[in-house]
Amino acid sequence: MQPSTRRWSLAAAFALLASVPAQAQSSFAVGTPLDWSGVLTGAFLGFLLLPVFYNIAFFVILRERFLVWQMARVLALVALTISLSSLPLGPWLTGTSFARAVLINVLFDCAVAIVGPFLRSILEPGMVSRPVFRLLGWQPWLVALTTPAMLIDRCPPLYLALRNGLLVSILVLVCFALVQAIARGSRAARFQAAGWSCLLGVCGVSLFHDIVLHRPFDLFLYALFGALALEMLLTSIGIGDRFMRLKREHDEARASAGLLEQIAQTDALTGLPNRRAIEARFAARRPRAVAIVDIDHFKAINDAFGHACGDAVIVAVAGALNAGDAFAARVGGEEFALLLYSDQPWLELEWLRREIPGHVARVLPELDRAITASAGITALDTGVGFAEALKAADLNLYLAKASGRNRSLGMRPAGTPVRAVAAAA
Ligand code: GH3
Ligand code: MG
Ligand code: MG
Repeated sequence: MQPSTRRWSLAAAFALLASVPAQAQSSFAVGTPLDWSGVLTGAFLGFLLLPVFYNIAFFVILRERFLVWQMARVLALVALTISLSSLPLGPWLTGTSFARAVLINVLFDCAVAIVGPFLRSILEPGMVSRPVFRLLGWQPWLVALTTPAMLIDRCPPLYLALRNGLLVSILVLVCFALVQAIARGSRAARFQAAGWSCLLGVCGVSLFHDIVLHRPFDLFLYALFGALALEMLLTSIGIGDRFMRLKREHDEARASAGLLEQIAQTDALTGLPNRRAIEARFAARRPRAVAIVDIDHFKAINDAFGHACGDAVIVAVAGALNAGDAFAARVGGEEFALLLYSDQPWLELEWLRREIPGHVARVLPELDRAITASAGITALDTGVGFAEALKAADLNLYLAKASGRNRSLGMRPAGTPVRAVAAAA
């Protein structure tokens, strides 16, 4: 844009803005009467558009189908309100044009048809029988087959009767679904019933005029839009209620899935992570070394003090191993695996292993012997998996047991290879 053109555009915009209060003031001055139908249309449109933003905000959190159907319904109603107003909609859609009549009738039938899928998606599962659920999905759309009846000049009475019959059947289906869902304890149906009762009343009166009195219901549009405003309010409250309950269900499901996952990864006796958990941890954060710790002569403890006391020893040893920075897991009866992350994994392992006798003695003073443990450790080469590392550590544990127990074997502080240590032993 040329600078001079931009200047002119800015000047024009300011002039336009300045003219608004000027025009408003001159309107006050000459006492221009308010266009009440315009005011009402504007207020109704604003009222309709509010739930759209509210539904979009909900949809961002939970992608529920009923939010989409409700938005579609509201947008159809907004478009219908604009089409019914005296607003100019361009040369093709002038107030009395056939195109505008088509638009109005298509939008009206759309708003009617969407009620079925909307109701079906907002009701809690199992609140209507399967046939009713299926019917709600497609039956209201049949109204589209009869939309031309409202547009043909001298419409055949049979075609008009078909349309009226169809509208009545939709009304009956929706009422039946609501009654059935309320009988089955649906909360969403109660909100919808409250919202739609006025609307259904207005539609019922209109159909009564058409079918029984054979003359149009003059106040139909006023009554319809009044009822729609009330319905929108109650539906929005119903949607908010359904949304909050669904959100709570989602949160609870997520929490119980998390709890199940935690249970699946925890050893029931000691509360330490189990083999599954240590494998996941190994994959998530690779340690410097892996060690395996096994209680010495544990069978003798079981034999001397009983299985329950043996269990208590296992729990006490788990407590000792869980005291440091290493990730400790129970991987067998009286066997524990450690993921060691410190710069000196050997020292870390030895510190933990040597804590065992004192800790068990403090927890179980009735034991007449010191509880010791042996350990095998392996440093982690690149590309080595958990199972492989554990196997190597287990081999070193076997060597530690063979060389007298109550010791660690495998990797000296400087990282001396296992064979050298085994040979020295
Ligand atoms: P070593 O020093 O060579 O490791 O000898 P050990 O007696 O500790 O090892 P062994 O493999 O001979 O015996 C392990 C015993 O641990 C056998 C089994 O009954 C017992 N055990 C395994 N799981 C449990 C458990 O959960 N609770 C109890 N109380 N005992 C268990
Ligand atoms: Mg063992
Ligand atoms: Mg043992």
